[in-house]
Amino acid sequence: MADALWHERALALNIDGRAFINGERAWSRTEQQFDKHSPIDGRKLAAVARCGAPDVDAAVQSARAAFEDGRWSGMPPAKRKRVLIRFADLIQQNTAELALLETLDMGKPIKYSQSVDVGSAANCIRWYGEAVDKVYDEIAPTASSSLALITREPVGVVGAIIPWNYPMIMAAWKIAPALAAGNSVVLKPSEKAPLTSLRLAELALQAGIPAGVFSVLPGYGNEAGSALALHMDVDCIAFTGSTRVGKQIMQMAGQSNLKRAWTELGGKSANIVCADCPDLDAAVAAAVGSIYFNQGESCNAPSRLFVEESVKDAFIEKALAMVPRYQPGDPLDEATVMGAIVDEVQMKTVLGYIEAGKHGGARLLAGGAQERAQSGGYYVAPTLFDQVDSGMKIAQEEIFGPVLSVLSFSDVQDAVKQANATPYGLQAAVWSADMSKAIQVARALRAGTVHVNQYDGDDITVPFGGYKQSGNGRDKSLHAFDKYTELKTTWIQIG
Ligand code: NAP
Ligand code: MG
Repeated sequence: MADALWHERALALNIDGRAFINGERAWSRTEQQFDKHSPIDGRKLAAVARCGAPDVDAAVQSARAAFEDGRWSGMPPAKRKRVLIRFADLIQQNTAELALLETLDMGKPIKYSQSVDVGSAANCIRWYGEAVDKVYDEIAPTASSSLALITREPVGVVGAIIPWNYPMIMAAWKIAPALAAGNSVVLKPSEKAPLTSLRLAELALQAGIPAGVFSVLPGYGNEAGSALALHMDVDCIAFTGSTRVGKQIMQMAGQSNLKRAWTELGGKSANIVCADCPDLDAAVAAAVGSIYFNQGESCNAPSRLFVEESVKDAFIEKALAMVPRYQPGDPLDEATVMGAIVDEVQMKTVLGYIEAGKHGGARLLAGGAQERAQSGGYYVAPTLFDQVDSGMKIAQEEIFGPVLSVLSFSDVQDAVKQANATPYGLQAAVWSADMSKAIQVARALRAGTVHVNQYDGDDITVPFGGYKQSGNGRDKSLHAFDKYTELKTTWIQIG
């Protein structure tokens, strides 16, 4: 599609910023709203409902009523399956609109919101729909005088709180397994990117998910978000976001009704390239491509690159040759591969880390500054630091921007030790032609996912989540059902 057309479509969009509660669009009961601006050029997109505790109460009440009368929870799994598949189909039929909303809302290139985000979200919803009438319960091997059934039941009302970096995908990772299992869901998207979640709620209703089963409350974390996490009638809170807020979520669960609290949090993933790497060009392409993808705003971005000393100069030379390809551009231009940072606050955070890197003694080899300021949006050049030390701030803290830190190592044990020396444990990678070495390293890395000789392994069939302070939950795969179901044992006396 011609790029001018995306700009025209953007102008023609009619964006509804109202909440979606009990099957209907509504402004907040608090009568508050906020203006949502686009990070691509600062334009106002819409007034959005600023939901608060009264809206959370209303949405939870309708979710509870739906759960109890069985309009969804009591539907046969094969029927829930058909509805979820229709929901996925509707998402795909609305690809252009959803992709455009996502790009305008949080700044990612239209190229990827079309080809990655919409498709992944739809695939996730379809996959859980297809799964739900194919999972069986258990019978325990007890003595023959009784029968013990071990069954899974939906937990009830699920509160989901998500970040802004992959808004549609994060929403799908939560709502698909939760809804498939028969729960009702109240979703609080990030106030920085609420628009696609609101459209998803309309499409869900259209697909046949009954009113009340899925509500969406845009608003601020410390208002709608905390009201949901503290609510006495929410059975489970599924959170994706920062480690700082994840800790608060677990405290709020404990302070209130001990709702199940699942957290998928930040990362500072280590990518270890050994001198015997089987394909240095592939390792360079993966290292560079993965850190700059989505403007570096990926929880699993390999932000710490460890290269064995003997190949480091060659590696950096190849990496620097690739960096200019990721120069930020207009996100509505289909050729653009790096778009805008989500907002000014986040851009300043990223630029602050770049300053910290320079002052901390790292060597800036590429980027390091704001770009395209005349656009009115927020863009940062693809940035690469060499001579980073594990103790530096830029090697310890999650930057969440297009900043790659290169560190080095002389033996692989040292690399593993440095890789594990952060509070995070989301992902990691090792590149080596020596498979036994690679597997030993993979075993020693404290991370929920480890890649060997690649960094792009990603599929709905595998769990996604972290060790340590990267959280306690797993999204995706059949394992995600563990979060949204309770295990029940039923003893039956025989004869
Ligand atoms: P965030 O600031 O922690 O916010 C996440 C969500 O929590 C937002 O909806 C936010 O609302 C809400 N929130 C904030 N304060 C809250 C409170 N006191 N009570 C309840 N909810 C509250 O994170 P973010 O900046 O949106 O997202 C970036 C983070 O997400 C990064 O750390 C990234 O690594 C992580 N992430 C992890 C994964 C994973 O699967 N492990 C995936 C993607 C992203 P507001 O927006 O209104 O503040
Ligand atoms: Mg926030």
